[in-house]
Amino acid sequence: MLELRSYVGARWVAGTGAPQTLLNPTTEEPLAHASSEGIDLKAALEHARATGGPALRAMSFAERGAALKAIADAMQSEREALLELSIANGGNTRSDAKFDVDGAIATLLAYSEIASTLGNSRFLVDGEGIQLGRSARFHGQHIAVPRHGVAVHINAFNFPAWGFAEKAAVALLAGMPVLSKPATSSAMVACRIVELVAGGKLLPEGALSLLVGSARELVSHLGPQDVLAFTGSGETGAQLRASAAVINLSVRINIEADSLNAAVLGPDVEPRSDMYELFLKDVVRDMTQKAGQKCTAIRRVLVPQQYHSSVREDLVELLGAIRVGDPKNEDVRMGPLASRAQLEDVRRGVGRLEGKHVFGSPAPLGAKGFFISPILVEDPASAVHEHEVFGPVAALLRYKDDPAEIVARGAGGLVSSVYSDDQEFIDRMVTGLAPFHGRLYLGHPKIELSPGPGTVLPQLVHGGPGRAGGGEELGGPRGLAFYMQRVALEGSRPVIQKLLGK
Ligand code: NAP
Repeated sequence: MLELRSYVGARWVAGTGAPQTLLNPTTEEPLAHASSEGIDLKAALEHARATGGPALRAMSFAERGAALKAIADAMQSEREALLELSIANGGNTRSDAKFDVDGAIATLLAYSEIASTLGNSRFLVDGEGIQLGRSARFHGQHIAVPRHGVAVHINAFNFPAWGFAEKAAVALLAGMPVLSKPATSSAMVACRIVELVAGGKLLPEGALSLLVGSARELVSHLGPQDVLAFTGSGETGAQLRASAAVINLSVRINIEADSLNAAVLGPDVEPRSDMYELFLKDVVRDMTQKAGQKCTAIRRVLVPQQYHSSVREDLVELLGAIRVGDPKNEDVRMGPLASRAQLEDVRRGVGRLEGKHVFGSPAPLGAKGFFISPILVEDPASAVHEHEVFGPVAALLRYKDDPAEIVARGAGGLVSSVYSDDQEFIDRMVTGLAPFHGRLYLGHPKIELSPGPGTVLPQLVHGGPGRAGGGEELGGPRGLAFYMQRVALEGSRPVIQKLLGK
């Protein structure tokens, strides 16, 4: 059995103690073991701070960007092997696996391109200089410099490649060393990526560490220059937010958690129109891609009263055409859930939604593997605005007057989408929904090859207020701010301008 090892202190280290077994969620066949017991987590962080940090800070943005490109290229050359691992360890169809792996490569490349616009500098100039007094000599300028700690990244199980890359690309470009901890159940893909980086010496020593297995007391070793970026459940996020290091030492923390994303069909959209078909396509894609285990997936489908039965019938028909099964088969559109725990969690969650099951049921499918059918629930209980069911499950809700008010009951989300051609309705929805979201997707059939609301693009921010964790990642160069200290320089204008190389 393959033993996954952690990469800490520039060495591959196996944990001791009883390991966790990683399974193939399609067959339940054991694939690997992982444990972090016995690993000196404090020493791992100190090594990253002492070696990786200074080495990265000695590099310019352009040099760090070149390293990101080298990682993307290495992943590209191992793409087939990464896709196979993702299918085996994640229960992904090939298309789902590509979504994760290709998304990771694209994000690394996007940040390497941003690096080329930042050039040979080692810090960022933030905004224009400001004359501070009557004399033009008294000058102010904000700059941002890399923090001197470690960026600890704790990731969720659903995107082992993209989750690694979307955090690591930004931190490394900002000049901070990374310690990445993938979710244990699906850690094989992230492990292979770190093997590629370490084996190819694509980063300076200490710039990238990997912890497989439980995080144990990792967070308690963080200090005031470190940052913690977490993606996962709201419950774990709340525990991390309450940790002593975060409270007492102001360890900077970013949380990406649960989200009850909504799709709103405008009252102007007639059934069978192109806009209507786009809406249906986006809902079905989000329910079934990665078996609905996407933080951005549509969970609440809001339709005007008059089109409710039409949308229900069309969704039932489209969901009926989704073949669920072994994701290695090309005609299968939806694979299993990622783990038994995930399957049980989804079944419990469907129970909490109550309502009528107009498509599918929470009964497990098949004798082996963690399979469930897509489930569409109609007229659910109020739990639909409180509880995220992290699987192929969505609820159909009808609205009469103000759908934005209904969406806002979700208390903060990553993304919601609006499908309408009526500018007045779009204006009203944007005003009503924007304060509760990190991103709004305005669907339009004329946008060619639109990936739908569920795809996170590196150019745009990812995160959301309230239930979604209150975090913000990516967003092009905006994302760097989390890993940098903004400092106001105040002094003589010529001195400051010399510092800035002007
Ligand atoms: P989870 O159980 O909270 O686990 C997330 C990560 O936290 C895993 O790496 C886990 O490690 C680690 N962890 C668990 N307890 C910890 C602790 N006490 N201290 C430090 N680390 C700890 O969540 P999940 O089941 O993997 O992911 C599903 C959830 O993630 C869903 O609710 C979904 O909404 C959310 N999600 C959000 C986003 C987003 O961008 N907002 C993206 C994807 C997923 P182990 O695996 O070793 O337990």
